[in-house]
Amino acid sequence: MRDPRFDILFEPVKIGPHIARNRFYQTPHCNGMGNLRPQAHARMRGIKAEGGWAVVNTEHCSVHPTGDLMPEVLQMLWDDGDIPPLALMCDAVHEHGSLAGVQLAYPANYNGNRLTREVPLGPMDRPVSGYHPVQVRAMDKSDIRNLRDWWKAAAIRARKAGFDIINVDSNFSTIAFQFLSPRNQRSDEYGGSLANRVRLLKELIEVSREGAGEGVAISVRLIVDELFGDQGLRVADEGIEAISMLAELPDLWDLVVGTWADDSPTSRFAPENDHEPFMLGIKSVTTKPVIGVGRFTSPDTMASLVRRGVLDMIGAARPSIADPFLPKKIEEGRYEDIRECIGCNICVSSHFAMVNLRCTQNPTIGDEWRRGWHPERIGPAKSEKSVLIVGGGPAGLECARALGQRGYRVTLAESEKRLGGRVTLEAELPCLREWLRVRDWRVTQIGKMPNVDVYLSSELSAEDILEFEADQVVLATGSSWRKDGIGRASHRPLPLSSLMPLYTPDDIMRGRCPPPGDVLVYDDDHYYMGAVIAEKLAYEGAQVTLVTPAADISAFTLNTLENIRTVRRLQGLGVRMVTHTGLNGTDGDKATLYDVRTGVETILDTDAVVLVTARQPHGGLFAELSDMSGGPAVSRIGDCEAPAAIFQAVWSGRRFAEEFEVGATFRRERIDLAPSSSFDLVP
Ligand code: ADP
Ligand code: SF4
Repeated sequence: MRDPRFDILFEPVKIGPHIARNRFYQTPHCNGMGNLRPQAHARMRGIKAEGGWAVVNTEHCSVHPTGDLMPEVLQMLWDDGDIPPLALMCDAVHEHGSLAGVQLAYPANYNGNRLTREVPLGPMDRPVSGYHPVQVRAMDKSDIRNLRDWWKAAAIRARKAGFDIINVDSNFSTIAFQFLSPRNQRSDEYGGSLANRVRLLKELIEVSREGAGEGVAISVRLIVDELFGDQGLRVADEGIEAISMLAELPDLWDLVVGTWADDSPTSRFAPENDHEPFMLGIKSVTTKPVIGVGRFTSPDTMASLVRRGVLDMIGAARPSIADPFLPKKIEEGRYEDIRECIGCNICVSSHFAMVNLRCTQNPTIGDEWRRGWHPERIGPAKSEKSVLIVGGGPAGLECARALGQRGYRVTLAESEKRLGGRVTLEAELPCLREWLRVRDWRVTQIGKMPNVDVYLSSELSAEDILEFEADQVVLATGSSWRKDGIGRASHRPLPLSSLMPLYTPDDIMRGRCPPPGDVLVYDDDHYYMGAVIAEKLAYEGAQVTLVTPAADISAFTLNTLENIRTVRRLQGLGVRMVTHTGLNGTDGDKATLYDVRTGVETILDTDAVVLVTARQPHGGLFAELSDMSGGPAVSRIGDCEAPAAIFQAVWSGRRFAEEFEVGATFRRERIDLAPSSSFDLVP
């Protein structure tokens, strides 16, 4: 049964003409499916509603071709032909009694109209964001009139699609905020004073209401603080004042802070509920429901925010991805079943990769429609077969848990004294503690399964495995960091002197660290590991030089919104950072480096080298067992098949469990060559 102190989270909330059945609000989030893969998108949103989210929103939805969002995979409502894909989502959400919201957007400065080649329109003449060599044209009055008409037409279509809530986006990447920011330098009635700068947002709220009519609520998603100091909007003065000016005009305020990287920081850099200081006092200037985000997974934090009058609804994107059933689990008092987000932002990276959403904790996300997976359900066992899983890292744990859920007899053998594999080791590195949730959730679930036996301190040989006589063997034996320098930059072993002390992340994670002195950390892996090792060694007093062949430190973290914070942290610790630089080899006290663009070599004096390059799969058991005739069926999953980031290992374990004795399905969405539409760009 639910603890009564969480009852407050299940009170209904009035949003304009609608009643949300509880306080759980899935804020808009990108997902890489959008209007390119609308059936996959609708299924994913529908499962959120099934899991108890009272409001389920889309991602950005472009209102007009002069503000296309390409190449990002998002939504559009340019003409009536765009209604059916979004109607699919509305139906999927309504089927479970939730409200569907659409986030209307016009990107202005944010995008260069790469698809339509229309001149981008915005508050001022200035380059578009990023490095696309195109400028925005400052909008004149007729452009603003047109924008209002386009917006209203999109609101009409949103209503036709079945949306209950239209969200006027006023985020960095959309026009209403670009007018509202003090960085808007216009001199007409849309620039200068706050009253002038807020005018466009007010007009867009009004035309949304005109277009959508009585039965649809209007919400605003607003940045309350740009985190740009006195160059930008600050909550303490203009942020809260802007909300006061429009206080009762929308039916709901959905508030964010700073850029996407500020609004969705990873757990390496920010804890749960880090936006609370920006939300304080907002409810005193409006009677409308106020929503904020903060990677909320703790029902105590959520209930406290509502009880203390900070928020009316709990906004969540990432926690709703990691566990689409989070509200239901709180409602039913199943707190230990909540699959808590670990704050890694792999989900965000799927948006940049323009592929179906993926998540470290929830391997089913993005595969609900195309593979038929469900976060809470899985098909029953097809036989009485027994399965032996060797290795209790993220791959082995998820595989054991999901096969156990299907009802198979599963044995999991792990050579170490603790489960978790690389997650257990990596969680000891600076600021990666929350990653233990990957292990802990699975261990808790397995603990409830009488049909899954776990043996620790059990290193199995090929003979042990054969003696066990399982019908199916799954090898999840992981990988080790390479010691020979092979990685992305070098496909051959590097000439590394035996006189130079050499380490890998495995050494450091197992407590074998270089003595104090100069350390070269060579990062040819390009995700978090190089920087995290540099951070750890710097905390321990080493003079660290972090060298990478890439153009950016921890280059992949550009996709997880961590790059700037990583560089800031390393700089603060005195780590010297060198990009565009490869390693050619070492001798007794020197490393030979080279510029990857010119080949010019330099020498770095150093006392030790840490190689963060590639990983070697533990493939020995697979090779041995595959060579034996008459043995059990053998498969391999996770890093022991091909090392990758943790989300891939979890997914691989799930995949084996889903497909065992069933086979694989993979559905694709094809573009239907229906009659095309054409329309005048300017009314
Ligand atoms: P993955 O990310 O693919 O799950 P990990 O490296 O995290 O890989 O986990 C692999 C796990 O397998 C480790 O905990 C390791 O101790 C365990 N392991 C490796 N070889 C054996 C073996 N022969 N018998 C039992 N456990 C093993
Ligand atoms: Fe959370 Fe990581 Fe999943 Fe995103 S990918 S929802 S940050 S666990």
